[in-house]
Amino acid sequence: MILVGGRTLEGPMNLRIDGTRIAAMAPDLTPVPGEAVFSAHGRLLLPGLVDAHTHSNDHLLRSMGQDLPLELWSLRTSAARIGRSAHEVYVGALLGCIEYLQHGITTVLDHLKLDPMSEEGFAAAARAYADAGIRGIVAPILQDLPLAATVPVTPGPNAFARRSPLPAAEQLAMTDAFVARWGGAVGPSAPHRCSDALLAGCADLARRRGVPLQLHVLETRLQRDTAARPTLERLEALGCLGPSTSLVHAVWLARGDVERIAASGASVVHCPLANAKLGSGLAPIVALVENGVNVALGTDSAACGDAHDLWTAMRFALLSPRSALPHHRWLGAAAGWRMATEAGARALGVGGAGRLAVGAPADIVLLDLDRPAFVPLTDPVAQLVFAAGPAAVREVFAGGRLVLKDGWPTGFDAKALLTEAAQLGARRLALNRPWLESAWELAAQLEHRLGSDGGG
Ligand SMILES: [Zn+2]
Repeated sequence: MILVGGRTLEGPMNLRIDGTRIAAMAPDLTPVPGEAVFSAHGRLLLPGLVDAHTHSNDHLLRSMGQDLPLELWSLRTSAARIGRSAHEVYVGALLGCIEYLQHGITTVLDHLKLDPMSEEGFAAAARAYADAGIRGIVAPILQDLPLAATVPVTPGPNAFARRSPLPAAEQLAMTDAFVARWGGAVGPSAPHRCSDALLAGCADLARRRGVPLQLHVLETRLQRDTAARPTLERLEALGCLGPSTSLVHAVWLARGDVERIAASGASVVHCPLANAKLGSGLAPIVALVENGVNVALGTDSAACGDAHDLWTAMRFALLSPRSALPHHRWLGAAAGWRMATEAGARALGVGGAGRLAVGAPADIVLLDLDRPAFVPLTDPVAQLVFAAGPAAVREVFAGGRLVLKDGWPTGFDAKALLTEAAQLGARRLALNRPWLESAWELAAQLEHRLGSDGGG
């Protein structure tokens, strides 16, 4: 058992960690014989943050494909991911863990795209999270439609466009085997990249295994405009909308979709920085929240995010809608903090996480209060959300284990990992140059379509 003494947002507080859970909380707890004491004097004790949508496959592609809308960005990055070994997947995932921990993030959903799909690769990512001590929920990405069915390009002889995905049944069987062994989630890429059979199969698999279902939905205007039928109606008809579903992006919703999502109990994962950077638009989160939808936050890909900075995402999510709304409809600091913690845990079905309470997982972030952001301490929640940032994160416990100390992970050699990640990232880009060139040959066709439609 460990006794951690400090203060929470509510005031002075001691927490007792027993195994992986918080066993007791009170301002006047005293150590019992044999109990370790972790002095958190001058620290603010917070629940671990939840990044409800990331892609570890892009940690080795950070900041690749600048200043492009999603469809062109995707041509730049997809070709760079082809052919990775399980070890590359492991190193990429562990690289992300350094950043998550330094930002106080203890739970992530890793919407993991492997090309080709490989159970060994998915397991490698899950191993990385276990080694770092993070709750990493790996959601294998499934998609069974060829590129030309998902964006308006004519493949011709283009090698990248002519690649064909594995049959839906094979993808589902591989995901089922992974989830049976590792838990995780089911992650169809997006409605416009999946057949009806695959989407229905994913929903069925998630239900059968009792795991979350997560997918990108209506990220760009092109996706809305090229859908053969209204996307949310289609998802509902295929059994993909329910309390265990999280819809990522939800930027280009149709009339009635907000109410449809609210009625289903599904969550929305808002990724405001990636959406803004790719020029996709912004999800109507104020309307979603007002209608009772659970809205969580995600940092999305390191190649379009570009950092896994949930703190900046939280601020931007709160502030970006304000100028278009009367002030009584603004979301305040507490709503932002909830999105980054409890709402994320709920979206991912992680019971009890995202808050400090007896019985909750012992995921505890310790922030340095001895900083101008907290002095004088007049409104702790507002100062936490609008003034502090990841630089104040000093220590992190996850599942009762001290996983970040003095700003660095304790579970692995982060400095050595950085060196290896740099080497592997550069090597893969060199190896995949022919694929990158082939993919980029398609850009002119897409540019034309995006230009004539006014963008994605
Ligand atoms: Zn994404």
